[in-house]
Amino acid sequence: VNSINEVFWFSTVGVTELVYVSPAFERIWGMTLQDLYDTPKLFIDAIHPEDKEAYFKVLDTYHAKGKEYECCYRIYNKDGDIRWIDERGYPVENYKQAIVYMAGTCTDITKQKENEDKLRENEARLEYLAYHDSLTGMPNRLFFYSQLRSSLARSKRNNTKFAVLLIDLDRFKVINDSMGHGVGDHFLKIISKRLLTCIRGSDTATRVGGDEFAVIMDDIDKRTSVASMVKKILTTISLPTTIQNKVLYSTASIGISIHPQDGSTPDVLLKAADIAMYRAKNMGKNTFSFYRSHESDRAFDLLALEMDMPKAIESREFFLEYQPQFELDTGKVVGVEALLRWNHPERGIISPDVFIPIAEETGLILPLGHWVLQESIKQYKCWKNKGVQLDKISVNLSALQFRQPDLLTYIYDSFKAHNLEAQCLELEITESLIMSDIENTVKCLKDLKSMGLSLSIDDFGTGYSSLSYLKRFAIDKLKIDRSFVKDIETDPNDAAISASIIALAHKMNLKVIAEGVENEQQAAFLKSQQCDEVQGFLYGTPMSKENIEACLCEHS
Ligand code: C2E
Ligand code: CA
Ligand code: CA
Repeated sequence: VNSINEVFWFSTVGVTELVYVSPAFERIWGMTLQDLYDTPKLFIDAIHPEDKEAYFKVLDTYHAKGKEYECCYRIYNKDGDIRWIDERGYPVENYKQAIVYMAGTCTDITKQKENEDKLRENEARLEYLAYHDSLTGMPNRLFFYSQLRSSLARSKRNNTKFAVLLIDLDRFKVINDSMGHGVGDHFLKIISKRLLTCIRGSDTATRVGGDEFAVIMDDIDKRTSVASMVKKILTTISLPTTIQNKVLYSTASIGISIHPQDGSTPDVLLKAADIAMYRAKNMGKNTFSFYRSHESDRAFDLLALEMDMPKAIESREFFLEYQPQFELDTGKVVGVEALLRWNHPERGIISPDVFIPIAEETGLILPLGHWVLQESIKQYKCWKNKGVQLDKISVNLSALQFRQPDLLTYIYDSFKAHNLEAQCLELEITESLIMSDIENTVKCLKDLKSMGLSLSIDDFGTGYSSLSYLKRFAIDKLKIDRSFVKDIETDPNDAAISASIIALAHKMNLKVIAEGVENEQQAAFLKSQQCDEVQGFLYGTPMSKENIEACLCEHS
């Protein structure tokens, strides 16, 4: 044992007298063996003062009794640099089985310690960046979503109501375009400060977009109490602001939705507040509006869609599109993601962003999700039969499906029915889902994984990401949410988040795929950070099965 980082040693039992130390010592401690043999106490002197006591304690209890031990401590080498040492000692017996020596190794684990520290730092930074808006210092959209989820849980538990306010500035674009971004940014900072003065301590105010803010007002009893706060916000925002000797004005339009009557998922509540906000704009701006479901625009009428959905499954109005996923290094297609579409007889193609939340709220996602899995596996088999090259097909799994006790059985049955190996399937599970019931999730993921399929965490970065939990999940891949990729070349925050996610994933031996890659600059940045895979309009949009087939033949 004389590698660069490992020292082998012998000492007498009970006394810390080193009898032999291997030459690697000179490299790690930075002193010669002769120095050490001449002045044995140099060894103890080198130990970091804060670690000395613990070190002696270990020696007293184990070394003296001739028992095995392990101890980590810091030393100062000859140049005064700190090195981390992992020392392990073992008793050595003579032929009479009496312990005569201690032998052991000291390993320089400085690099490993540094990596761990970096990882921890990265994680903390990631969390801060992920939840805050760098301009105003306010919490951001992601924070808003997580807060909305807690408010939902709380209000369901306590049977209370809360309001979601969506606040959009009416004239911000004019200010920004005519006065420049510097002034625009300054203006937003002032508005965000003013907004904070209007809300109660228990409310959450966040900046959710360029000139859009959202507030959650917890525990409200009447519409009137909401209205009086909203009026205060409108007045405060419309006060004149002086920047660079110019007096600037902006007003705001506010849309309000209320839980439970207007919805019971974050997406539905937000959509409702959005519709109400547009109504406020149409009413002439500088005003507010509550969501009123019966009046809402037909195109957004979630209720009607909800009613149409059950028969749509029967009449086969749903179909799948497939989007290719590429390996960044080789440009090879490594997978396709199946994406659900609804071809509505009156409204045409409806986006899953609109109907999936309704399907989840009504439970219809179960038959629908089942169909998506069946269809995807069937399609994979069909390609395989035709000799089309494809490693795997990714399917999005919703939270409700994930909690179905018979999920495993029906996935297993589908593989059997088509005589396929589970390796051809990847399930995409959102981060918020797996963080919601950790114990159960750990088990579910393990069971799924043991079938041989792969698991990827979708929309990564948008939920509560805790490294310590991630380690416990049997996952293969993280998918960086497209909200980070969108401004990756212009927004240093987004760049830092993406880079951290990639570094973090690689440290944990996970692959990383970035979604929503639309241009070469984004791709170049991701490449520079060693992202493994990409998916996005730059490489291929979601397409029909015929078109994806052609794409697969071209890129395999
Ligand atoms: P997702 O899983 O994050 O899917 C990726 C979405 O990003 C897709 O939207 C895709 O069309 C879009 N996209 C891909 N490349 C780009 C790009 O370069 N730029 C931009 N701006 N967008 C890009 P889509 O198809 O509208 O799906 C939206 C969401 O609906 C999906 O987000 C997923 O959460 C959900 N969804 C779709 N199909 C299913 C399904 O079968 N089951 C479940 N549970 N959810 C589904
Ligand atoms: Ca997905
Ligand atoms: Ca996603």
